Amino acid sequence: MSLIHKVFPKFKVNVDQEKCKKCTRCVNACSFGVLSFNGERIVADNEKCVDCQRCAVYCPAEAIMINDFPIVYSPHGTYTERIRKINWFQSGTGGVLLASTGTDLPYPVIFDDIVLDACQVTNPSIDPLREPVETKVFLGSKPAKLDFDIDPGNENNVTMRTRFPPNFEMSMPLMVGHMSLGSISFNACMSIYKAVSELGIVAGSGEGGLNEAFYPYKNHLITEIASGRFGVDLNYLQGVAGLEIKIGQGAKPGHGGHLPGEKVTSLISETRMIPKFSDALSPYPHHDIYSIEDLQQLISALKEATRYKIPIGVKIAAVHNVAPIASGIVRAGADFITIDGFRGGTGAAPRIIRDHVGIPIEVAIASVDERLRNEGIREKVTLIAGGSIRYSADLIKAIALGADICMVGMPVLLAMGCRFCQQCHTGNCSWGIATQRPDLVKRLDVDVSVQRIKNLFHAWNEELKEIMGAMGIDSVESLRSNRDRLRYLGPNPHIAEVLGIKHVGE
Ligand code: SF4
Ligand code: SF4
Repeated sequence: MSLIHKVFPKFKVNVDQEKCKKCTRCVNACSFGVLSFNGERIVADNEKCVDCQRCAVYCPAEAIMINDFPIVYSPHGTYTERIRKINWFQSGTGGVLLASTGTDLPYPVIFDDIVLDACQVTNPSIDPLREPVETKVFLGSKPAKLDFDIDPGNENNVTMRTRFPPNFEMSMPLMVGHMSLGSISFNACMSIYKAVSELGIVAGSGEGGLNEAFYPYKNHLITEIASGRFGVDLNYLQGVAGLEIKIGQGAKPGHGGHLPGEKVTSLISETRMIPKFSDALSPYPHHDIYSIEDLQQLISALKEATRYKIPIGVKIAAVHNVAPIASGIVRAGADFITIDGFRGGTGAAPRIIRDHVGIPIEVAIASVDERLRNEGIREKVTLIAGGSIRYSADLIKAIALGADICMVGMPVLLAMGCRFCQQCHTGNCSWGIATQRPDLVKRLDVDVSVQRIKNLFHAWNEELKEIMGAMGIDSVESLRSNRDRLRYLGPNPHIAEVLGIKHVGE
């Protein structure tokens, strides 16, 4: 037999046979078929291990260790181990490689090269325990100015003439990004939707429709109109917090979506309104949108269908000309724009696109904010930034660069137990998150997950208040686009110019 195709495993599972109680809990825990019990001992098929860690977490004897597989690939700066493996796999399969989560290539994270300011001596800081620091924000278009009518007979009788467009009040500048039922499980969706409802914020439905079981949470959801129009009917449009036309996604700009037929179970088929076990393919473009005017027509139609009661937005991936694209979207009548950076997560994407297409959210949000300000249309739209907002420091810096709200995905999955094994596209998530397998879905405890998501967002919001207090800023509104409170500490001065911020020491 030819062994030319053999690629060594990435991980090696070591079971300490002396500690092992032969309880076989690890065998049941593993959804990738790595472990088995041969009647005497636990044996591991290392080739299948993805380091999801479920076996080690549930082993009562702490008998399991997962290590790197001890084989050395002869070092080469150009043909790295990663590139050699890609070529080996593709010469075996002849196909496009799929991947999940966000890119795992070590691109520099610009957020890490930015430092924040704080008050000293003449400009006092604010103690958020003693003074109010407001993190409430509103999702939707704002009027550029307010007009009032004053009663000529009684100047104290003032009425506001300006009519406010629909806005959704959010308790903090955070939302959960779009993850569809299909890419994640029913229990994962339920956990997210309950958590955001209790937190007073919103979550994205993703492009897979909305199961009726989630209707009680509708008024805290932004439902998505994607090119496949899955699950779109009048019920799906009405009564939600917002509607979003999905043009692009950070992990796969210019690409559609593909949920393989085997994942289209009864639940998914009913929700997406497509036949069971048929492939759910979203075309790359919307076949009715080829210009800003076409986009304007769809936005107007959605506003009509929802009686002008909810904000309508557009989601795009962060790409090279993102600023003029965003300007066109505002002029098409959008109330909010979601910009998804290229490190953003996904349930499944071609690896080549995930890893090499798009631009980082830091530069995208700064350039869009700048352009809209220069054109005098910034207040017409809420800017939502996503694509690897990893923790509260990124949230704060993204707002100071120009975002109104940040969209978070992977940290929410981490809160629910995700171990970042990057196997979401296989549908075998052992933690019950990115799977439709009933035996795995039931592993995810909704009540525990709701609490953990709420804890995470509460913690971020508290840290946001702490930093704003140290900066002497008492509202998110005043932090937004406040780039003078940022300094650049990285290796490439030109990036600072693009971001519109000064260097440290300036
Ligand atoms: S879970 Fe731990 S103790 Fe139980 S069989 Fe597996 S390795 Fe042994
Ligand atoms: S969601 Fe599940 S499959 Fe995806 S990275 Fe996390 S643990 Fe792995």
